[in-house]
Amino acid sequence: MSNPPEDNSQPIVLLETLAAGPLKVGATPPRPGLMGAFEHYGKRLLKHPLFPWIGRWMTIGFLIALAYSAFFGPRDPRLNFATVMSWVVWWPLLAISYLVIGRVWCAVCPMGALSDIAYRKIGLNLKAPKLFKKRWLVAVMLGIAILYQAWIEEVTRASVSPLITGFILWSFTIGAVVSGLVFERWTWCRHLCPLGAWSGVFAMSSVVEVRADPNVCLANRCKGIHCYFGRDDLPGCPFHQVPKIMETNRYCSTCGNCLKACPNDAISIRLRPPSREFVTQKKEVLENALIAVVAIGVVFFQGLVMTDLWASLRERAASLPLLSNDAILYGVLILVCVGLAVGLFFLASQIYARLTRQSCHAEMCRFGFAFLPLALLAHIGHNLGHLFNGYALVPGALAGLMGQPPQVTTQGAPNFWAWQVLEVGLVLVGLAISAWAIRRICVAANINCPRPLATAPYMILAGLYAAAFIAMFALPMVTRV
Ligand code: SF4
Ligand code: SF4
Repeated sequence: MSNPPEDNSQPIVLLETLAAGPLKVGATPPRPGLMGAFEHYGKRLLKHPLFPWIGRWMTIGFLIALAYSAFFGPRDPRLNFATVMSWVVWWPLLAISYLVIGRVWCAVCPMGALSDIAYRKIGLNLKAPKLFKKRWLVAVMLGIAILYQAWIEEVTRASVSPLITGFILWSFTIGAVVSGLVFERWTWCRHLCPLGAWSGVFAMSSVVEVRADPNVCLANRCKGIHCYFGRDDLPGCPFHQVPKIMETNRYCSTCGNCLKACPNDAISIRLRPPSREFVTQKKEVLENALIAVVAIGVVFFQGLVMTDLWASLRERAASLPLLSNDAILYGVLILVCVGLAVGLFFLASQIYARLTRQSCHAEMCRFGFAFLPLALLAHIGHNLGHLFNGYALVPGALAGLMGQPPQVTTQGAPNFWAWQVLEVGLVLVGLAISAWAIRRICVAANINCPRPLATAPYMILAGLYAAAFIAMFALPMVTRV
């Protein structure tokens, strides 16, 4: 009888263990000072068992109040809880949240929450079709979702119509629930929601990120990847992300699932410069980079259609046969805004490629995202103006919801001067961040051209975009409701 084969695995395991370090290694130590305090308390919040459900139940209550008011409240949009809260309060706060904490709205969104409940309780739990993941299709759908959302908002004049606001809310809710009934995890938020598409792009400029320390994963020889699959009753990442290799905020809702499921405390929430993601990205995809430039055109469109200048142009266009139709008129305008933004970016990339003897395609991939902070800050400035000029409507709208008789609003004339200072200030901040990102991306490139000369086309383009925003914001603007 032969002896059992000698077990040689012990020394190998020992060597692997020694190479990997001690078996139980905790998270990277927190940084000192205010940043460390933010990261410490941020992590505690995300790991709390009540997060994000407490927020979700609150927003579900909010959604019910909005729906009730949209269909049964006062018809005057300035007195209606649904229009005031959706367009004057929530929309601007959502814009700020992209910068401050990424895509966190998706974690507490009532529609996403209902989708999640449907998926967990009675859903068929099918995998999302492979078609949803095709790279080109994702980019095309994202572009369409962003354009459609901006276009439909203007064509239907949703912000001044409680009924249309209600229909938009419910169409999103029904879509989310149906998706939850059929597909696994958060397929609606990840692949289908137009608002999620917009949020994901802007979240890339966020000053916050959730990431795992791969050294901790390695040192603990984690094979379960619980952050992705979940552990016991703790669900894994609803967006199908693996935090130790995640490079972008685009598909991270800061929901905290991975922090709770990771048994090795490898995941943290960290502060970062708002453009770091673009400077360090490894996967450079043209469709994704172009989306950032599309965002410049869409934000410009959203501001332009609220100016007095546009109101008079629209009146003149009404006498023309085709453009008297709002759907066509706004469709043409948004395509012109986006086409100009993308066309100028293509031109700047051509000049950069000639100066540096690089491929234009590769440079478009690398530099496109650098314009995202400018788009986001312009978007925030514009929407904050609406918030400052409209917050006085909230008490009246709340009273209307409680069944009090409609009150004449006490809101005075909009303070355009303060609004414009705010918008211009934030555009300049966005310009500074974009310029910083352009410089950093160029410094990381291996080129034989003096860097100030090489960056000039993109710097000039960023200046042009910013000048266009400032000129547009200098025009008198109507309030949103
Ligand atoms: S669960 Fe995920 S984050 Fe945690 S150690 Fe394993 S791979 Fe790393
Ligand atoms: S990586 Fe996934 S699980 Fe972790 S916070 Fe982001 S969305 Fe949630």
